[in-house]
Amino acid sequence: MTYLDILQQHFGFSSFRGIQQDIIESIGAGRDTLGLMPTGGGKSITFQVPALAKDGLCLVISPLIALMKDQVAHLRKKGIKATAVYTGMSRDEIIVALENCIFGNFKFLYVSPERIASELFQAKLAKMKVSFITVDEAHCISQWGYDFRPSYLQIAAIRKLLPDVPVLALTATATPAVVEDIQRQLGFRETNVKRMSFERKNLIYAVQHCSTTKEQEVLELLELIPGSAIIYTRSRLGTRELASWLVNQGISATHYHAALTNREKTERAEAWQKGSIRVMVATNAFGMGIDKADVRLIVHTDVPDSPEAYFQEAGRAGRDGQPAHAVLLYDDHSIPVLRRRVEDTFPPEEYITQVYEDACNFLQMAMGDGYGVTREFNLEAFCHAFRHFPVRAYNALQLLSRAGYIEWADAEENRSRVMMSCHRDELYSFHLPPMMDRVLQHLLRTCTGIFSEYAFIDEGEIAHALGIAESDVCEQLIDLSRRHILQFVPRKFIPYFTFRQRRVERDEIVMPAAVYADRKRELDQRVQTMIGYLTTQMCRSRYLLNYFGEEHAADCGLCDNCTEESVVPACDDQQIRQRILDFVAEHHPSSLLDIHLPDLPQQEVGRVLHQMLEEEELRLT
Ligand code: ADP
Ligand code: MG
Repeated sequence: MTYLDILQQHFGFSSFRGIQQDIIESIGAGRDTLGLMPTGGGKSITFQVPALAKDGLCLVISPLIALMKDQVAHLRKKGIKATAVYTGMSRDEIIVALENCIFGNFKFLYVSPERIASELFQAKLAKMKVSFITVDEAHCISQWGYDFRPSYLQIAAIRKLLPDVPVLALTATATPAVVEDIQRQLGFRETNVKRMSFERKNLIYAVQHCSTTKEQEVLELLELIPGSAIIYTRSRLGTRELASWLVNQGISATHYHAALTNREKTERAEAWQKGSIRVMVATNAFGMGIDKADVRLIVHTDVPDSPEAYFQEAGRAGRDGQPAHAVLLYDDHSIPVLRRRVEDTFPPEEYITQVYEDACNFLQMAMGDGYGVTREFNLEAFCHAFRHFPVRAYNALQLLSRAGYIEWADAEENRSRVMMSCHRDELYSFHLPPMMDRVLQHLLRTCTGIFSEYAFIDEGEIAHALGIAESDVCEQLIDLSRRHILQFVPRKFIPYFTFRQRRVERDEIVMPAAVYADRKRELDQRVQTMIGYLTTQMCRSRYLLNYFGEEHAADCGLCDNCTEESVVPACDDQQIRQRILDFVAEHHPSSLLDIHLPDLPQQEVGRVLHQMLEEEELRLT
């Protein structure tokens, strides 16, 4: 059977798209291959088809559990044997899945990166007949990338275990430096990149300076451009507020962010996906793995701090090839806010060491003590006591963690945990109400080591598995802990703080360049690129493509810069500058809003005004 036969028979597509066939032939011939295709380009086919053509099992490393489950379900529906191993499965379940891969003639094993380091996994893997390894979202292996995940570095170890097995790395986002780094980190035997242009011919980029409020601006866009939309907003609270404001304006909308329950997330994503809700207002937590073809509009109400993130998010529009819009809104605060984000994410080193010292004092840890000690640590109380700004203090603590001095879990990373407080033998003497018994049995079945250590749980998943309400699960857990059968630590408990070294003097703290200086410089460069995106007069598509290393990209002819150039007579910045100065000299406006130059494009005036403020050619008094 040819690759094309497999595509047609198993997946029902008539032909390959873009460079799919190139990638398939390359990995099919046993060559290490890096495939670069934009989001929605159809990367999955590039490993699924050759895996079916070859003997043995394809190992797929993928960072998102939800995505893994989706793909496994998808393959199974087609009668293809596929399974997955990820955090949250019980040891027994994992063993069953892995044994299936050894003896059961399975074609796909999906595994999340933090699992591959385990001895159990590696021991079983050694017995499998692996055709090739697929690393999805391969940019996560690069510290130069914008979404580095340390667990990805473990993949190198897998390659050592399976020295003759080729690897297929796939990503939708990589600058030239990252392209090189991925191949190095994965130990490619030869340089081999299959790249498809990231040009999105049907995507219409625009940057819009807000003349009114952002809400109003979003509403106007939604009225102008019919169809499904995503509005990206940075703050979680902001997603809720904007969605309910839109609903009040008669627009069908909902909101989404990381702190919703799993149930809420699934329900809302599904409603939006099938079109019963038109607009999704979301933080960047929404998107990976979304496969909706007919999204017509993506709006960003805040400027993302990396072009990679922007390109990915904007790229969720128009996968069906029909015209779609990607609009980035900004206002006079956007550029200073972006700049401050760099400073907030990487506060000065004196500040970091100050936070370290204050935290030690807050925890009453004596100099030289503390090695391995864990304490509760309430960031809010700490910031209050020592007058720190939470965002900066948070980031200082993150950097101290990455530099290896401490380990701390902030509220977001916390999940609920349980541990048995009774002995295993005592279990038989309890007479529990039926629902409580079911919850307990479920925990005993699914959480390994629960008698000796805390196990993370997800109330939503338990509720789903047992077919009861999430609130019931919580109630049962609280009741179980009242009966001293187990200890239940609900999520949003006070975060903890662990000393990974004894307490040292402030001036002994060293921030390695790999943790601090290099990362800061990269973030700064990304932010500069985004500021450039806001202010450039170049074709926006070409601007982004250049950033990703496509130097010979053509003008798109569609974006606001391309079209404005032809519609509005060219007017260079210097002329606009002079006009503004003339206006100010004549009218003495009391605010920026009073500056009217109606014959010039408002957006250009806004942009130049901005530059003048930045350069202090104008000052607000
Ligand atoms: P990516 O991982 O690159 O973001 P996916 O693999 O999820 O993209 O594929 C995106 C969509 O494209 C899916 O709905 C998939 O079924 C579809 N697709 C992939 N290859 C083809 C093809 N050759 N012909 C038609 N549709 C395809
Ligand atoms: Mg994919």
